[in-house]
Amino acid sequence: MKDCIFCKIIKKEIPSDIVFEDSKVIAFLDINPASKGHTLVMPKNHYELVSEMSDDDCKHLMVSIKRISDALMKLNQGLNIVQNNKKVANQLVPHVHFHLIPRNDKDGIKIGEWAHVKYKDNEASNIIKKIKEFIE
Ligand code: AMP
Ligand code: ZN
Repeated sequence: MKDCIFCKIIKKEIPSDIVFEDSKVIAFLDINPASKGHTLVMPKNHYELVSEMSDDDCKHLMVSIKRISDALMKLNQGLNIVQNNKKVANQLVPHVHFHLIPRNDKDGIKIGEWAHVKYKDNEASNIIKKIKEFIE
């Protein structure tokens, strides 16, 4: 995609600190990291959302995430894997990517501190029904 910053990084038109690369996937350090080693992993093909990806790119990406996670887990106590879809969910760059954020004791990083909602009568079963209808 012409105006996509991550496509430009993939094409080496913009420099990045590459952690891992093969024919389908690239991983590089986030320019504004939450912790040291914060890595972005993504498909080389341009998609905005996970839901748009080919199964093949998805499988390859997940295996790459696993391999990089394994390395980061050897260097840190824990790891958050975060992925945002659309602006409403904090996606700033519209090229699908996973954040691998190394975690260590007292690092002060706040992830997943959301308030909780409650289901009313039958609401959960209605939602399950709707989701099932749309799973292809
Ligand atoms: P998201 O909000 O999930 O779309 O995250 C986008 C991430 O891309 C942010 O954490 C940015 O710091 C990071 N980012 C933006 N531009 C660059 C860049 N040129 N090189 C590395 N990371 C970048
Ligand atoms: Zn792109």
